[in-house]
Order: sequence, then structure tokens, then C-alpha cells
Amino acid sequence: MGALPGLSEILAARAALLLRRDSALGRVRGTTEVIMPNFIELKKIEQADEPVTVEASLEIAPADLDHDDIESISDAKIAVAASKGAGPGEFLFQGTFAFTAAIACARCLDPVPFANRSEFAVTFRPHPSVGGADDPEIEIGEGDLDVEYYSEPHVALEQLAGEQIELALPMRIVCAESCLGLCPRCGANLNRGACGCEPEPVDERWQALSDLRDKIKKEEK
Ligand SMILES: [Zn+2]
Ligand SMILES: [Zn+2]
Repeated sequence: MGALPGLSEILAARAALLLRRDSALGRVRGTTEVIMPNFIELKKIEQADEPVTVEASLEIAPADLDHDDIESISDAKIAVAASKGAGPGEFLFQGTFAFTAAIACARCLDPVPFANRSEFAVTFRPHPSVGGADDPEIEIGEGDLDVEYYSEPHVALEQLAGEQIELALPMRIVCAESCLGLCPRCGANLNRGACGCEPEPVDERWQALSDLRDKIKKEEK
């Protein structure tokens, strides 16, 4: 069995790509991580008779997420089985992912532990711009969460995991339904006891509105 032709070139190109991408993100990684299987080559899926399976543990930074209340997040464990889809150039990515995070309570800002384990199924279709075929019939539906369009010959697992994490994160989390939040005056966490501030005075304009509402109610009776 001869050596795979051009394999070292492919690996070198991939390493260069990963390094370039990571330095663009401000992170420089050691050479050991550069060869991590963070990409699934679509060609590999096309050529395989069985689904291509990959398991990876991906480093996700809170800053990479579109949620500003994430204090910390664990590595995302992702397991993917990628297979050919029904349509031309279509690929089906199915799998599971899991992560834990600490999310700031929406009222008192204390970190609240959050754990998620979910399944996903995403169909990748060629982006209409790929191959130059400008098909006006193809419309990219923004609401269709389970369909994505690729323009590169590979799918990045970090992007896939990042998207799934975004979907799994709650819009808002509270440490407890009874959370008292922060004092609007001094910012003290009221769950740890009263801060001694005077209660907020009721605005007289709101009081006038309240009186009016009471009056209308009486008149309705
Ligand atoms: Zn709270
Ligand atoms: Zn206070």
C-alpha cells in the first residue's frame, strides 16, 4: 500500500488555514490542536458508503456567543454522523452535543448553573452561489433552522456546535422565582438581606393615573 498522494500537502494547508483563522480570532494554538478533527470534509462523506462519524471536544469562548449573560462555558462535546442527503450536493448532519455554563441571573446577576444535552439534525445544501448556477427559484429561508447552506468544501464543527449552543441557551434565567434582585439605589443583592436604603418614593404622576383608574372603575359599576 503506497502512501496517500499529497496527504502531507493537505495537512499542511489545513494547518495553515486553522492557524490563520485562530490568529484572526486572537488565539494561537499549539501544533497538537491544529490537527484536531474540527472540520468534516464534504468530499469524504460523498465518497463513504457509511456515515462519517466524528467526536470532538470544542473550546467555546463566551465572547463567541451572542448572549452577554454567559459568565463561563465548558468545552462542548459533540458527536456527529454525517451522511449523504436526498438532494444533489445535500448532506445530513445528525448528532448530539452537551455543555455546561454559568449564566448570570436576570435579576441579581449571580451565576446560575446551566447544563444542556441535545440532539440535532441539520441539512446542508450548496449555497446558490456555489457553482455559479444562479437559480432564482432557490430562496434561503431564514426561518428554516434545520437547513444551512455551505459555500466551502467542509463543515466546521465549531460553527455547528456554536449554532446549537445558541439555540439551547435560555433567553433569560433566574436563580430562583423568589429572587429579590438588586437594590435599584445601591446595587446590593437583596437576597443577602436588606441594604437599608429607603424604599423608592411613588412618583406622583403615576399616583394620579392610579386614582383616575380607580375612579373609572367605580363609575363603570
Ligand atoms: Zn437571582
Ligand atoms: Zn440599597
